[in-house]
This record gives sequence, structure tokens and C-alpha cells, in this order.
Amino acid sequence: MQASSQTPPNPSRFKEALQRGQLMLPRCQICDDLFYPPKAQCPRCGSTSLEWARCSGKGRVFSYLVNYRPAGALPSESWEVMAVVELQEGPRILAPVIGLNDPSQVQVDMAVCLAPASKLTNGPVFEAG
Ligand SMILES: [Zn+2]
Repeated sequence: MQASSQTPPNPSRFKEALQRGQLMLPRCQICDDLFYPPKAQCPRCGSTSLEWARCSGKGRVFSYLVNYRPAGALPSESWEVMAVVELQEGPRILAPVIGLNDPSQVQVDMAVCLAPASKLTNGPVFEAG
């Protein structure tokens, strides 16, 4: 069965979903790989037969770093936390973690979830909880 009639997922759907506070990732219809960042081709098997899958937005901190001189920060923002978040569905996403009072609050294995839509202007952002 040829899948040549399939069109690759439109990357703008990823951003449209974020604007609604949803995390949508492409899933390969051949090998079932769910991946990030969105691409027109499966990174595991090379197939272009992809569909969009809605993720829970929940995950845990796999790894993180604290950036004490974030680019473009306001004078009041002296640090930011960037984390590799492992989603419940498996993919890992490098994204800021917000809502922390102090950088020492971030921990490996800490539960995080996608931040509200209003905070997702440029890409995925996570917060504790
Ligand atoms: Zn695949």
C-alpha cells in the first residue's frame, strides 16, 4: 500500500495548538514514533506518513541548567531554568521552566506540565506541577 497521497503535517499546526494551550506532536504511522521537534519526515524510519497526536503536556525534568544571564532578560530577571523535559508520552523537549521562586527549586524527576496558553508565545514552556 503506497502512502504517497499523504501530505506531511503542516508545522504551523504545532504553533496553532500551542496558542490553544495544547501540545501536538507528529506521530509516524509506520513505526509509531512520536517525536519533537516537528519535522516532515520521521527521524527513526524516514517515513513521511505522519499524523498529529495530542500529548498530555505532562512530564518530568530529565535534566536542567540554570542560566544566570539569560539573553534579552529584564533587569529584574537574573536567572532562568532551561530543562530537558521528558513527556509522559516519551519525547524530550528542551524548554524553559517558569513559576519557580528560586533556581534551587528545580530538581531532576520533578513533575512539570505545559504552562497556560498565554505563556506559550514562542514555543513550549513548562511549570512545576
Ligand atoms: Zn517512523
